[in-house]
Amino acid sequence: SYSVQLNEAAQFIQTKDDFLVVSHIQPDGDAAGSTFAVAWILSSLGKRFTLVNEGEMPKKYMYMAGSQQTILNYDADAIPLTYKYVISVDCADFSRIGRVNQLFAEDAAILNIDHHATNDLFGSVNLVLAEAAATVEVLYDLGKVLGISFSNELNICIYSGLLTDTGGFRYANTSPKVMQIAADMLQHGVKGHELAEHLLEKLSYPQISLIKRSLNTLTFDSSKRIGWLAVSLEDLQDSGASNDDLDGLVNYPRNVEGVEVGLLFKERAGGQVKVSLRSGGTVDVAHIAKSFGGGGHIRAAGCTVKGSLHEAIESVVKEVGLALE
Ligand code: 5GP
Ligand code: MN
Ligand code: MN
Repeated sequence: SYSVQLNEAAQFIQTKDDFLVVSHIQPDGDAAGSTFAVAWILSSLGKRFTLVNEGEMPKKYMYMAGSQQTILNYDADAIPLTYKYVISVDCADFSRIGRVNQLFAEDAAILNIDHHATNDLFGSVNLVLAEAAATVEVLYDLGKVLGISFSNELNICIYSGLLTDTGGFRYANTSPKVMQIAADMLQHGVKGHELAEHLLEKLSYPQISLIKRSLNTLTFDSSKRIGWLAVSLEDLQDSGASNDDLDGLVNYPRNVEGVEVGLLFKERAGGQVKVSLRSGGTVDVAHIAKSFGGGGHIRAAGCTVKGSLHEAIESVVKEVGLALE
């Protein structure tokens, strides 16, 4: 049960030291918030740790890091060590960790903390709550079980993860518990409106330029129940945008009246296409994403498929069409 898992996870942290903390490739607000939340929790327990992600942590999330905390970028930093104790946050499966897994000792013990229904329980200890809106919600519970005092820094990480994974407290995962935790954070001085402006409202020039370009690609199937956008490598380059600037674009097709499934196709180097799937609830997009080697949640999922943008659109739209029948 969840309370047993919480106790096992607390014991993992209490009895060990010198952790490697990892999250998924191309971290979102919950992945970043969870990584830094674990750092604050470990700090308050006097534990040593190293934070690492396969790529660069987007600058917009770095306000959650303490001045003493650096997040290592696996691509740029040669880290010669291997770690015996790993804490993985917001990763539904081992492959989401990316090449950072090369830093794990062969017999590494992994604490897997997550909230994806498709989580395959790859950890030695698994703390996975599919009903949680975000991984930071699970970390809030873990912090309580550990009996730590919640610092303002930790509260900011938790609030940020809740805010981003619920789309600003709007998605179906916005449970009473989410609101209770958020209220607790606000009561302790977290500036919710400032975080919302920073994380959800503000657009950089590359972002708005990318939105302008990608809206030209908006397409619907004949039933108008599936809508999609496509972003090519050229679009990314010409707008000066980076991958994390694509966050939220998938909501444009998804939010159109009558659309059941919104899709975003993002061309990647090396002949691959990253697909974001969003459902109004009629179809389980995690199931569709899984059939392409990805995963996620019923209403929000993702996968990476081989081929051109055109090929990816053809195969994924076809599967979504079949699921809608
Ligand atoms: P996004 O479309 O924002 O990248 O991801 C939506 C949801 O699907 C997130 O919860 C994310 O964790 C999950 N997801 C995205 N891409 C993948 C993937 O390649 N594999 C798995 N297992 N989950 C993914
Ligand atoms: Mn995530
Ligand atoms: Mn998450």
